[in-house]
Amino acid sequence: MGAFEKAQRLYERAIQKKTNEEDLDLVIGWKEEELSVLFSCADLVRRHFFGNTVNPCAIMNIKSGGCPEDCAFCSQSTHNKANITVTRLSSREEIIKRFKVARKHNLSFGVVSSGRRLSYKEVKYVAEALRECGGGVHASLGILSKEEFALLREAGVVCYNHNLETSREYFKKIVTTHSYEERVETVKRVKQAGMDVCCGGIFGMGETWEDRKWLCLELKRLDVDVIPLNFLNAVPGTRVSRPAESPLEFLKIVTVFRIAHPDKTIKVCGGREVNLGRMQNLMFYAGANGYISGDYLTTKGDSIDSDDAMIRALGLEKTAF
Ligand code: SF4
Repeated sequence: MGAFEKAQRLYERAIQKKTNEEDLDLVIGWKEEELSVLFSCADLVRRHFFGNTVNPCAIMNIKSGGCPEDCAFCSQSTHNKANITVTRLSSREEIIKRFKVARKHNLSFGVVSSGRRLSYKEVKYVAEALRECGGGVHASLGILSKEEFALLREAGVVCYNHNLETSREYFKKIVTTHSYEERVETVKRVKQAGMDVCCGGIFGMGETWEDRKWLCLELKRLDVDVIPLNFLNAVPGTRVSRPAESPLEFLKIVTVFRIAHPDKTIKVCGGREVNLGRMQNLMFYAGANGYISGDYLTTKGDSIDSDDAMIRALGLEKTAF
């Protein structure tokens, strides 16, 4: 079968939501010189489900650094030696101010804190601040209990982020202070609380295509709603090195996730600028329908204005939710 026939078959199976593991192997093995055909397929699948709309979000780091967990890639871990600013929990006023900036730019807004989890008192404080934002907000505050998730839901949090990062097997090489199972169980509690689950991973840490495929299928089993894909930005002082992957390989990761999760929001997040460089706008042709706009947790991103210019040039339209 030629590249066009293979792409047509993939497209048809994806829009019928019938993609299987064999289809993902086909994408993974796609020849680099024929990637334009694969990306056309991914782009059409994206358009089938989302038209010309994309869903960007802005994140606020409400408690930075000082984390006792040992995630090898993370600049906020005390096991690493990255030179970052450590902060206490942001105030209610600071959170509301940043929420207003995000809304002004038509961006979804999410608060993110470092650490295994916030304390009950902190969760309550953040929930009250988010309630004042008027609902429709997102959060990522760690491994919380059923009661704490219910509290957030009741305060108007509609989507909770908790990433699995990589495959179950490779996770042990990246993190030892908590287990993969704890992460999976947290994701299940988010779902039970009635919030959308935002759950994805980080790529370029030495994982194989098998690890990536495993994660992709695990997210299908968990039926997550939004999938953030981070491309490693190796901050000096962390225990990871600069990724060896080319921009095209990172883009192919986006396509694997689009084909596997045809109707789910796939967001390209941290490391987009560093790893895709001038090929950034191809992420939409590779299947992404979302991204983080502005700065990340401890690293700079492109400005919101420059992201907006990219979106306009591509004829896409931003939608926040
Ligand atoms: S990823 Fe989260 S849990 Fe892991 S070290 Fe960073 S802040 Fe801590």
